[in-house]
Amino acid sequence: MSGTPTLPGHPHIARRGTTLQVEDVALDALAREHGTPLFVYSKQWMLDALAAYQRGFAGRDALICYAMKANSSLGVLRVFAEAGCGFDIVSGGELARVLAAGAEPAKVIFSGVGKTRAEMRQALTAGIGCFNVESEAEIDVLNTMALEQGQRAPVSVRINPNVDPKTHPYISTGLKGNKFGVAHDRAVAVYRHAAALPGLQVVGIDCHIGSQITESSPYLDALDRILDLVQAIEAAGVPLHHIDFGGGLGIDYDGDTPPAADALWKQLFARLDARGFGDRRILIEPGRSLVGNAGLCVTEVLYTKPGEEKNFCIVDAAMNDLPRPAMYQAFHRIVPVAERPLLPAIRYDVVGPVCESGDWLGRDRDLAVEAGDLLAVLSAGAYCMSMASNYNTRARAAEVLVSGASATLIRRRETVEDQLRTEQAL
Ligand SMILES: *Cc1c(COP(=O)(O)O)cnc(C)c1O
Repeated sequence: MSGTPTLPGHPHIARRGTTLQVEDVALDALAREHGTPLFVYSKQWMLDALAAYQRGFAGRDALICYAMKANSSLGVLRVFAEAGCGFDIVSGGELARVLAAGAEPAKVIFSGVGKTRAEMRQALTAGIGCFNVESEAEIDVLNTMALEQGQRAPVSVRINPNVDPKTHPYISTGLKGNKFGVAHDRAVAVYRHAAALPGLQVVGIDCHIGSQITESSPYLDALDRILDLVQAIEAAGVPLHHIDFGGGLGIDYDGDTPPAADALWKQLFARLDARGFGDRRILIEPGRSLVGNAGLCVTEVLYTKPGEEKNFCIVDAAMNDLPRPAMYQAFHRIVPVAERPLLPAIRYDVVGPVCESGDWLGRDRDLAVEAGDLLAVLSAGAYCMSMASNYNTRARAAEVLVSGASATLIRRRETVEDQLRTEQAL
């Protein structure tokens, strides 16, 4: 893309001639070939995002476990598996998916507050690297399941460090009032208990304080609290092989300025070194920051509808494709694929066809568009396709992975037959 002006904050998206392109592939041509709504991902952006973490971990004993719930499409998982990543999973379905993408089971860690017995059995059989357990009750069930299979389950206890990540309440996870993890005060007792169980092998400690975090200070606070606990737990006679520091680093949606992954880890390692933990094995579980700005969603304008209080720009993507605005009032930048210098810009709410007033993608956006034009909804690589639903019997969108000038369809558009396959009319 040399010599082509890229969009601010999106070095892999550029305007060339009359159309927007991802890496070297034009979006209007992709939309013509595959229809809309269409997710388009840049492989280079993912690898660059991963490289920032890898720089931060150079010379350290570390494993990056991509939190696959952010985007669990096989083609995306394959990119990270080929780059040597481990994976953070939260269900048996994700385990099956990531093994199908070629992940090494020993590099898979299993998080989540509600693992079922069947999921534990499946993960024990696969030989995953670590169960991140989240409650005292779960510890006992996992012990039983492991003994039944004649195994020792590798475990880490997720600690709730009670720090405020300063993000949206729905994506804060490390505060006392959240459902996640074991309370800081209970940690030593819980580790003593786990270490005494014959079906468990204590291997580490973990935390994950929230998502879309744009400051370093919550991480530094959480690290101090976790290191205090590591000292207390080891003083109680339970050695910890690794420290898993979770994910949560934010991305630029709307001029947000999260620290770069390498800069953040420079700060965190300075603290680890100062406290004598610089040689400890470190695991992390980034999701959004590895894929969020790699993706966008191309959608077609179906109608413009002027009104007394609001003008609506009705597009063919909806809350079932892009659920974040409806769920968390989240912001996505929306830009035209082809600019129209001769049309006046009008202020629109960009909305989808779903029968809900919550079905909006962007509010009060100044756009020069007409029916038939294409728009690109940016920052749509994380928590969009993986959260997509069939609400209103809408088919889930297709996905294309771009690398340089090549574009690969990694998911065909769903059909209504796909949706009806599991059902039966009496
Ligand atoms: C969702 C989640 C992550 C990833 O969070 P991001 O904000 O996408 O980086 C990591 N660890 C756990 C336990 C999670 O639930």
